[in-house]
Amino acid sequence: MTGLTDQQLARYARHIVLREIGGGGQKQLLAARVAVIGAGGLGSPCLQYLAAAGVGRITVIDDDEVDLSNLQRQTLHGTADVGVSKSGSAKAALKALNPEVRVTAVRERLTPENAADLLEGHDAIADGSDSFTTRAAVAAAALTLETPLISAALGPFEGQLSTFRGWEADQPCWHCYVGDMQDRPGRSCADVGILGAVAGIMGAMQALEVIRSLVPFGEPLSGRVIIYDALAQRMRTIALAKDPKCPRCAAA
Ligand SMILES: [Zn+2]
Repeated sequence: MTGLTDQQLARYARHIVLREIGGGGQKQLLAARVAVIGAGGLGSPCLQYLAAAGVGRITVIDDDEVDLSNLQRQTLHGTADVGVSKSGSAKAALKALNPEVRVTAVRERLTPENAADLLEGHDAIADGSDSFTTRAAVAAAALTLETPLISAALGPFEGQLSTFRGWEADQPCWHCYVGDMQDRPGRSCADVGILGAVAGIMGAMQALEVIRSLVPFGEPLSGRVIIYDALAQRMRTIALAKDPKCPRCAAA
């Protein structure tokens, strides 16, 4: 296998034996650059699986600090990290997991003003942030930059996940899906509660879809939304069409 070191052949052996990934796919992962917004409940497992998979460069964007109440679900951080920036704590944890990965910690809130600058140059964007304002800014930048957006969201016992490639003629964008929804005060995880493992399931699945967008295999999730119901322990997938009147992605 050319181009991979003995260490890499050993570390990624279980990927390399997969027909769907192989040595070529592993090299694509090593060369890839992914941005993850939010190093919280979704970002923790998502970042862990991306770093473990050998995604070469990862940008972690989070302006928050680790709070004791986060540790019930944000598994990237430990008790000793309470009070530390989440992006910095995430960087340290990911470097311990896989020193080969180049992690950039951005301790900033992503806004409509800085979104395009922060996200430019990435091959995929994973959004696990906790506000609609941030999500809308990420989605607008991903559409402009023509970068796949893998977006996950959580409720107390539920999760949603999709991949958006809205710049393509037949693919919906994030705005086609959510419309003009606004932040609803009192509806964040901090306010309504969440079963921690639900975040783990959705964040791990988000990492899977990031990897799929970098090394295509199986059926892409674009044009479909996964809806996970932890109370019924059931998952369904619904089709999502491009809105021909979408103000963001429809052809003029
Ligand atoms: Zn759209």
